[in-house]
Amino acid sequence: MGETEQMTGIVTTASIAGGTEKTPQNQQNFGKLIENDLKDGRNLLLKSKIPKESNDDKTSERVSRDIKCQQSSQCTNFVTKTPQLEKYFKLSDQIKKEIDQVIVKYPMKQSTHILNLIKNIDGPIGKQFIPSIKELTEDSESMLDSLNEEGQKPIPDVPLVHRYENKVLLFVSNVCAANCRACTRKRAIDKIEKIKMETIMKGVSYINKTKSINDVVVSGGDPFMLDVDEIDFILKTLISINHVETIRIGTRTPSTYPEAINDDLLKVLSKYVKKTREESKVLMIGVHFDHPAELTQESKEACFALFDVGIQLYNQSILLKGINDNPKTLAKLCLGLRKINVQPQYIYQCDPVEGTKHFRTKITDGINIMRKLRKLIPGPAIPIYVVDLPGGFKKVPVDLGYYINTHEPSNVTYFRDNEGIMRRYPIPFVNDDKDKK
Ligand SMILES: *Cc1c(COP(=O)(O)O)cnc(C)c1O
Ligand code: SF4
Repeated sequence: MGETEQMTGIVTTASIAGGTEKTPQNQQNFGKLIENDLKDGRNLLLKSKIPKESNDDKTSERVSRDIKCQQSSQCTNFVTKTPQLEKYFKLSDQIKKEIDQVIVKYPMKQSTHILNLIKNIDGPIGKQFIPSIKELTEDSESMLDSLNEEGQKPIPDVPLVHRYENKVLLFVSNVCAANCRACTRKRAIDKIEKIKMETIMKGVSYINKTKSINDVVVSGGDPFMLDVDEIDFILKTLISINHVETIRIGTRTPSTYPEAINDDLLKVLSKYVKKTREESKVLMIGVHFDHPAELTQESKEACFALFDVGIQLYNQSILLKGINDNPKTLAKLCLGLRKINVQPQYIYQCDPVEGTKHFRTKITDGINIMRKLRKLIPGPAIPIYVVDLPGGFKKVPVDLGYYINTHEPSNVTYFRDNEGIMRRYPIPFVNDDKDKK
C-alpha cells in the first residue's frame, strides 16, 4: 500500500486527530479516547461507558453469556478434546485417533450449540465441523495463506488488510465459537494469542489517517467472541472517524453460538445504529450460514434480534462439496435467510487453502448450480458466486463473466442463457478499455 506511510510505535493524539487540521467534534473525542486509553500502552476497556444493566429487561429469553468463559478452552460451552465429543455422537476408535492427529495441526473448538446439531459426522454439519484426516492430505495446489493477507498488511504486525482502495479488513479476534474445517484462515484461528486492543487501535489509527477508506470490515476470528466492552470501544472509535461511512462486522455466532447475541451486545449495537443513522452512516453485520440445517430456532431468533435493533444483515456462504453443492440445498438456505431478513451476499468458491481440498468443488459445478438456483428462488434471495483470487487479487463474480461470450467478434454480443444456449444481444459489445485508468 504505497499511498500511506507505515505506522510505527504507539498512536499519538496528533496522528489520530489529524494534527492541526480542523477537527470536528467527533474527531476530537476520538483523539481524547485514544489519549486516555492508549497512553501507556494499556489494554483499553471503557467499562464505565456501558451502563451495567439492571435486570428489569425481562422481555428477552436470550441467555446471558459468561464473557470470561468464551475465551477459555476450559469453558463447558465449548468442546476441544476428542473424548468430549462422545457425549454427542458415536465415534469409532479409528476416527478418534484420526481426530487427535488432526487437531495437533488444526485445533478443534466447537460450541455445544453446533455439536447438538450433529447427528452424524458425515452429515452436513458434521462434515463442516468435525476434524477429518483428509485435512492432513498432501495437496500441492493449496497454500497456507492463499489470499496473501499477510502480504497486504500496511503496518507490520497489525492485522489490517488494505487490498481495495476504499475498504479495509480489520481483524480484531483470533477466536471463533466453532472452528469451521473449511476456514480460509485456519492457519491462525484459535492458534495464536488474543489480539491486543492496542494493536487493533494501531489499525484504527491507520484508517483514521487514510482518507480514502470509507468502508471497514471488522472480522477475525469472530468479533463477537470479544468482551462486549471491547466491541463497544472498537465501534465507538470507528464510527467517530468522519470518512468511514460503512462499518461491517463479520460474525458466525448467529449460526454457531447464538447465545452471543445477548442483551448486553444488542444494547451496544442499538446505540451505534442510532448514532450511524444520525451521522448518515450504516452498521451492517455479515453472518455465515452454509446449510439450511443451521437455520435453527435459536439462530433465527438471533438474526431477528439483530434486525429488530435496526441492523442490516447479509450472509456469506462457502460452496462446500457434499454439503451444500446442489441447487435445492442452496435454494432452501437462501430463501430461509431472506425469511429472517438476511440478504445472501456471496457464495464463495472454497479457497485453495491447505487442509481444505476435500471441500472444494469445480468452478463449472458452481456455475451450473447458480444457473439452476436462479430458477428456484426470488432474485433478492440469490447471492453472487465469487472467487477470491489467490495472491490477494480480489473477489471476482464468476457468473457475470460466464454470461458474456468474449470469443465472438467484438461487434456482436452473445450471452449464454440459463440453459447454456448462446443468445445474440442486439447491442454491440463495447470495448470500454479506454474509459479505464
Ligand atoms: C472481501 C474483502 C473486502 C470486502 O469486500 P466486499 O466485496 O465489499 O464485501 C474488503 N477487504 C478485503 C481484504 C476483502 O477480502
Ligand atoms: S467462523 Fe469464520 S473465521 Fe471462524 S473458523 Fe469459521 S470460517 Fe473461520
